[in-house]
Amino acid sequence: MNKFKHWKIVILLIGVIIFLVLLTVFIYPKFKLKNFQEIIEISYNDLYEDNYNDVCFGNIFSCHEVAVKKDGNVDTKKLGEYKVTYTFSYQNNVIVKEQIVKVMDKKAPTLEVNGENLKYCPNGSIPVNFEIKAIDDIDGDLSDKVLVKAEDSKLVFSVADGAGNEVKVFKDARKIDEEAPKINLIGDNLVYLQLNQKYEENGVKAVDNCDGDISEKVIREGEVDSSKEGKYVITYKVSDSSGLSSSTNRTVYVYQAKNYAEKGTKNVYLTFDDGPSAYTGQLLDVLKKYNVKATFFLTSQNTSKGYDDMIKREYDEGHTVAIHSYTHSYSYIYASVDNYFEDLTNMQNKIYNLTGYKTMIVRFPGGSSNTISKNYDNGSHIMSNLAKMLGAKGYRYFDWNVLSGDAGETTDTKQIVKNVTSNLKSGTSVVLQHDTKNFSVNAVEDIIKYGIENGYNFLPLTMDSPSVEHSINN
Ligand code: ZN
Repeated sequence: MNKFKHWKIVILLIGVIIFLVLLTVFIYPKFKLKNFQEIIEISYNDLYEDNYNDVCFGNIFSCHEVAVKKDGNVDTKKLGEYKVTYTFSYQNNVIVKEQIVKVMDKKAPTLEVNGENLKYCPNGSIPVNFEIKAIDDIDGDLSDKVLVKAEDSKLVFSVADGAGNEVKVFKDARKIDEEAPKINLIGDNLVYLQLNQKYEENGVKAVDNCDGDISEKVIREGEVDSSKEGKYVITYKVSDSSGLSSSTNRTVYVYQAKNYAEKGTKNVYLTFDDGPSAYTGQLLDVLKKYNVKATFFLTSQNTSKGYDDMIKREYDEGHTVAIHSYTHSYSYIYASVDNYFEDLTNMQNKIYNLTGYKTMIVRFPGGSSNTISKNYDNGSHIMSNLAKMLGAKGYRYFDWNVLSGDAGETTDTKQIVKNVTSNLKSGTSVVLQHDTKNFSVNAVEDIIKYGIENGYNFLPLTMDSPSVEHSINN
């Protein structure tokens, strides 16, 4: 009986304890942090937001809003781990929670591939006929790190950033080689050799879109016999691994250069460029008066229109009629060898039609030393080519070694007389004047008088005259 009663008390006590525990759990107030995360990961540059919503203090019946104090900052523009401490309080109750925020690189780079009609080679190589742009928010421009692979009928472009985030782009592509190799001559495509000068082969560079540098596979045909004047053509041919071939030529002219020595006497060659003009008749009268023969480098430009009869008169009176330029347009004649010779031939024909005489004497607009031609010749060193080519075609060109200064330095007739007379040579003097300029034409009589008084001969230029050539700068 006693024993039974004792058990009853124990059960009662256990019941009381359970009741108190439950009371504590459900009714005794405490902090509730439902959605608080102790570790969060966010992407670089993403927004970091405070993370403590649903925190309150209370029991099952009611829960009170708490005060929050936050310590620590997160810089989402810098990768790394940040610790943020939240202190929640309600009246005298305080709880401190730590949160680890990991700012991570979770974004792959962007990869853009632009290109039409993508291809890869039968030998597996991939010619670049596309443009790639790969940008990573952290690593920056990764365009040159992009890998390209050919897979069946696709090109697969891929790139990963420093954190290993990878992006892939697939593009349709055909397995085909449609491009023949390209052959580039090393050295000039036109070569001028003086008779018996050794021909040096500079070779070529051949590049193929699929095979790369195939210069070694180039076959050369044609020989140069530099002991014989003439035109020689050397042909270079190459085929790529797909059987596509191409060829290119180099032309070699072998010519005989003549040696025109100084004659050692006091010879003056008066030369007049850019005419005829309104002043040419007056000039011819003066020359006639002193029986002096001169040389006219003729044009057909605007200032000379209407004075064609002067060309006939120059020739008839024993002067040398020579070619300067039909157009006198630097941008045209120095753009190509073909342009130059077309212009030259036009002037030569015009002179021939007026006089019946085919002149082979030439003066380059700007002289052979001009550098203005560099503005128009696409780096082809046209003056070097033209000088040699004129020789090879049997022309002779003359520059000058006495400047009158009438090309812009002075407009004073007395000064022109002085410039010329004080610079005459003891051997050959080729004087540059322009019969398009009144003040220059007016100086001629005094120049002739001075020459006659001082023992100079006045001569027209001929194919046998001593050379007066500048050094070529282009
Ligand atoms: Zn000129």
